[in-house]
Amino acid sequence: MGRAAVVLGGGAGGLAAAERLRATLPADVRVVLIDRSFTPSLGLSTMRVLRGRRAPAELAATVRPAALPGVELVTAEVTGIDVDGRQVQLAAAAPVDYDALIVALGAELDTAALPGLDAALTSGVAGQFYTPDGAVALHRRIEALQSGRVVVLIGPPPFKCPPAPYEAAFLIADQLGTRFTGGAARVDVITAEPRPIPVVGTQVGDAVVSTLNATGIGFTPGKVATAIDPNARTITFADGDVEPFDLLAVVPPHRSPVAALLPALVNPGGWIPVDPQTMATATPGVWAVGDNAAVPLANGMALPKAAIFAERAAAVAADQLARYLGAGAPDTRYRGDGYCVMVVGENMAAKVAGEFLAAPAPQVLLRGPNRDFYDEKLQLERDWLARWGT
Ligand SMILES: Cc1cc2nc3c(=O)[nH]c(=O)nc-3n(C[C@H](O)[C@H](O)[C@H](O)COP(=O)(O)OP(=O)(O)OC[C@H]3O[C@@H](n4cnc5c(N)ncnc54)[C@H](O)[C@@H]3O)c2cc1C
Repeated sequence: MGRAAVVLGGGAGGLAAAERLRATLPADVRVVLIDRSFTPSLGLSTMRVLRGRRAPAELAATVRPAALPGVELVTAEVTGIDVDGRQVQLAAAAPVDYDALIVALGAELDTAALPGLDAALTSGVAGQFYTPDGAVALHRRIEALQSGRVVVLIGPPPFKCPPAPYEAAFLIADQLGTRFTGGAARVDVITAEPRPIPVVGTQVGDAVVSTLNATGIGFTPGKVATAIDPNARTITFADGDVEPFDLLAVVPPHRSPVAALLPALVNPGGWIPVDPQTMATATPGVWAVGDNAAVPLANGMALPKAAIFAERAAAVAADQLARYLGAGAPDTRYRGDGYCVMVVGENMAAKVAGEFLAAPAPQVLLRGPNRDFYDEKLQLERDWLARWGT
């Protein structure tokens, strides 16, 4: 059998990597893409579910072979990666040998990491908006809330899409409608961050806080939650403070799926450090892209976990991998350019965009809000569903 380039994870990063590899590598090099289910969904669509604009079934995509011609799709759980033997172990399937590897296994939610959160989610006093099913359940709970305090609780980074919890606060206020504007219900954001989206500096953070204030949403930074009491409906923080809530909308703690699979390659947080320009790991022949990678920025922080970065980094890693295997690919370098569109109300969105790899700090600004950015976000969703949707 010929040489093989293997991509682990069929989400935003893995799909883009496999597509680029197939376009770049000669036909005698196999491109193999492995995912446990090949049913990706867009995070930005999950926010539409939270607002009640979409049902989870409408987000369902299934990656079919015809969408990636020439790529071998293997549906299996990755259970081990032997970087010395260049082999991937799979549950209930034969191991797959590789000559070069791109790891794009994403990030997982870890609700058990915050004491009391699982019980609060089960009892219904808390909800989360990081999965389609979680978002639809939270939407129903907001619909049923007649009055009281909704707290949007944000833990320490990293978590996917740093603007998403702020968008959630705007969407929840919008859904509450006259319950919110009439004063029966309030929405407060409480975050471990020093300001919104701290990775991109004060202009963006201050603009988000101004928009929260203008909407009437409370904002408290610098509070690290240590426990939830679902019976008393309270959050306890590291500084000893206790805050009450009637409904909690929480960003679940995240954990890395590669910490156990690649213990020799990960940092103390469990993420894979990579060269910010090439996505190369410390191991020759192995690249990491997307949420499972730790891309260092000039300000000492890490590149946010977002699909836009996963896709662009995937193209870079694919070209670097193709060169490693001797193909005539360009020496593509990652520039860290990217953006995120944050809905702030009915048909209105702001755009956080810029160069994240700029030195000495990311050069990123918030523009809008306006209708054009909102339409742009809807178009992103339409394009993606047309590409992968069933
Ligand atoms: C609510 C929300 C809103 C968001 N909004 C935006 C936005 O507006 N813009 C933006 O750019 N990003 C947004 N994101 C972030 C974006 O969804 C992620 O950053 C992006 O999907 C990361 O791509 P990835 O390829 O690294 O991981 P994923 O897309 O998560 O893909 C990982 C894949 O690996 C597979 N996998 C994992 N472990 C295994 C295993 N052991 N064996 C086999 N397969 C495995 C999974 O099945 C999955 O398909 C949002 C996310 C959320 C949750």
